[in-house]
Amino acid sequence: MPSIAYVNGRFSSIEDAVVSVEDRGFQLGDGIYEVLRTYHGQLHAVEPHMRRLFRSLDAIELKHAFTAAGLEQIIREAVQRAGFDDSLVYLQITRGATKRTKEFPIDVPPTLVITVRKLELPPAAVREKGVAIQAADDIRWQRCDIKTVCLLPNVLASQRARAAGCFEALFVEKDGTVNECASANIFIVASGVVATPPLSARILGGITRDEVVALAHKNGVPMQERRVTLDELLAADEVFMTGTTVEVLPVVKVNDRPIAAGKPGPVTQRLHKLFCELAD
Ligand code: PLP
Repeated sequence: MPSIAYVNGRFSSIEDAVVSVEDRGFQLGDGIYEVLRTYHGQLHAVEPHMRRLFRSLDAIELKHAFTAAGLEQIIREAVQRAGFDDSLVYLQITRGATKRTKEFPIDVPPTLVITVRKLELPPAAVREKGVAIQAADDIRWQRCDIKTVCLLPNVLASQRARAAGCFEALFVEKDGTVNECASANIFIVASGVVATPPLSARILGGITRDEVVALAHKNGVPMQERRVTLDELLAADEVFMTGTTVEVLPVVKVNDRPIAAGKPGPVTQRLHKLFCELAD
């Protein structure tokens, strides 16, 4: 079976998997999700992903009886059934299927969906050349630290960025504060110092972000978690994004303006190499 789905206890192909039309994830966006990947069939950073998943569940007050060990076991079985070297694993948990009301339903079990498909990595040429990104007003809600399935602002910003020939959208506040990309965290390098926006309710605490911050500290690369502005980013020596599927990906153009010489820089390349040594 090439791609695998698991819905509330049942494995199937993704095509055959179904959830109820009354599911609160579909009706209200009342749910959370998590994304993991495998390297050579092995799940990467499963503990931090599980911690973030349970944090998201707590943050939306979703009552459940899931355990990290139980979920991990299902994920491992799904990964094994799919059998890819590099798998992309999505896990969604919603507040269940029931008659539509805004308030929490009583005694309705959550819906658990897991899908595993082959991970499509950015092509080597894209990684070598670096990517362009486009700034977008950050019109998201005040709890971007929760990995919720409500992603409409990310969908719209990503679509506009793609339509403009860019790889990603970059969410920026009205005052010029840079938050993160639509599906990744953002870093700049200026005079040899790496900087990334601090953890807050305005960004998702990326697992890759944490790994890269830790790798920089461990390897003597100066690293700051602090406010970053769009002007600073445009004037930086290097810019890169981090995420489960993109790892450490160089950004060479922002809003049609090249970053420095418009080529991936040495600090980005070093951090990507260190990341690959850790993960691959
Ligand atoms: N920020 C947003 C909005 C994301 O959607 C993602 C990943 O999906 C990230 C950051 C990066 O997080 P991670 O490194 O855990 O994949």
